[in-house]
Amino acid sequence: MADTISSLIAGRWRDATGPEYTTEYPADGSAVATLHAATATDVDEAVQAAESARRLPTWANLKRHERAGLLHRIAAGIRARGEELAQLQRLDNGKPISETRALVASAAGTFQFFAAACETWEDSLTPARGDYLTMSVHEPLGVVGAITPWNSPIASEAQKLAPALAAGCAVVIKPAEITPRMAIELARIAQQAGLPDGILSVLPGKGSIVGDALVRHPLVKRIAFTGGTTVGLGLAKLAAEKLMPISLELGGKSPTIVCADADLDHAVAGVLYGIFSSSGESCIAGSRAFVHVSVYDEFKARLLAGVKALRVGDPAAESTQMGPLVNLGHRASVERYVQLGRDEGGQVLAGGARPQGGLFDRGSYYLPTVIEGLPNSARMCQEEIFGPVLALLPWTDEAELIAQCNDNVYGLASGIWTRDYKAAWRIGRALQTGTVWVNTYKVFSVSTPFGGLKMSGTGREKGRLGILEYTAQKSFYWGLNEQPLPWAA
Ligand code: NAD
Repeated sequence: MADTISSLIAGRWRDATGPEYTTEYPADGSAVATLHAATATDVDEAVQAAESARRLPTWANLKRHERAGLLHRIAAGIRARGEELAQLQRLDNGKPISETRALVASAAGTFQFFAAACETWEDSLTPARGDYLTMSVHEPLGVVGAITPWNSPIASEAQKLAPALAAGCAVVIKPAEITPRMAIELARIAQQAGLPDGILSVLPGKGSIVGDALVRHPLVKRIAFTGGTTVGLGLAKLAAEKLMPISLELGGKSPTIVCADADLDHAVAGVLYGIFSSSGESCIAGSRAFVHVSVYDEFKARLLAGVKALRVGDPAAESTQMGPLVNLGHRASVERYVQLGRDEGGQVLAGGARPQGGLFDRGSYYLPTVIEGLPNSARMCQEEIFGPVLALLPWTDEAELIAQCNDNVYGLASGIWTRDYKAAWRIGRALQTGTVWVNTYKVFSVSTPFGGLKMSGTGREKGRLGILEYTAQKSFYWGLNEQPLPWAA
């Protein structure tokens, strides 16, 4: 039976005022949670409460080390409930348990990291150019709206909530409609850790209603958005009308380059992990593999053997590497892309179908798929599929390779497999992506800024300076002159 869950709105756990809906477990379609969707009225209540709460001495007067202490307690709260959260996250989006455990651990690490950054970041004395002292200080921007997608909820939410709280802001989270639980549980943990009422609200519901109302609300002073490029572009326009800062972590179509001298054991494992982990439902999925012609056949043979050995199945099983896609509608979209690839002249070397029998017939599963024979200009090589579909492309000339990698609207991430560090540096500097992985892929550190170029977004999350994204700089001039300004004499 589905859990019944309520939302945290303006410091109170209650049902939101919109219609009831039920979320489903992608592995078998069973009901997971029943809740009420939020409305624009709930958004207004949450934002008004956030604005009041952030001005109260209980939040506004907290010293940095005290806010850091709160973030440490949230990190500890996440760790204490780690296994339970990982299981809930698995039920929400069907990711294998091994992956959801890693996401939960990374969320705890994010709070720990921003606790340290909160306590140690320094405002500055700037070099004065006259008889005065100049200072630059950072102040919280105000109420922040955090809008997140369904693919890695707890990590996306922690990446926004931790730096925003560290900066002294109040936050309203709008999780994806189908994956509300991580934000709700984070709010419970934050409350138990001592976060004052009203500083955090969680409003699940439709993007076009809740997300839209949040972005438009006059008291919301910053948006942190992770999601698709089309939605992100629309929000950027709305934010521009208010001159409101917005960070946009959007889609990708990331190239992975295998050079002639690559260690193929590492490259094959890295390419498999890069595209098929999370069933390819990852903004940084390495969905275009450019393989040097001299090793193309050998790489392809090893890759296909690797694909065959992938363990697709029940996300609750410890050994599962690939679970289902998030729902049947999304699987249909992936299937349309594979058909498009076929229509464009591609040959399906692996997958290209649903697995059959047992659990597979109840959930939204799709086999890991490899397609070759398409030019980089094909739609299947240009558009984000957000599924387990890899395009394999041969290359010969480095300049032509770089041109093809960059010939895409996205610029999120890329990978290079080579033993030649000079080539890696040369190619890496030429790639128009926010992250470059060399001889590894899809590894993450909260201390390293993350974000996209081109249509993959703007702004950076993570990194020590991530806190500053939630602050406004204010400059002070302190007059030190013994004489009045030479004006009134
Ligand atoms: P989505 O854009 O449909 O939704 C993301 C969030 O925005 C959800 O909470 C949704 O309800 C909300 N939303 C939708 N329409 C809205 C509107 N009109 N106004 C305000 N909010 C609205 O994306 P998705 O399908 O949930 O997630 C998949 C996408 O997210 C992919 O494109 C993926 O690449 C991207 N993504 C990017 C990153 C990154 O860090 N760059 C990370 C994860 C996912």
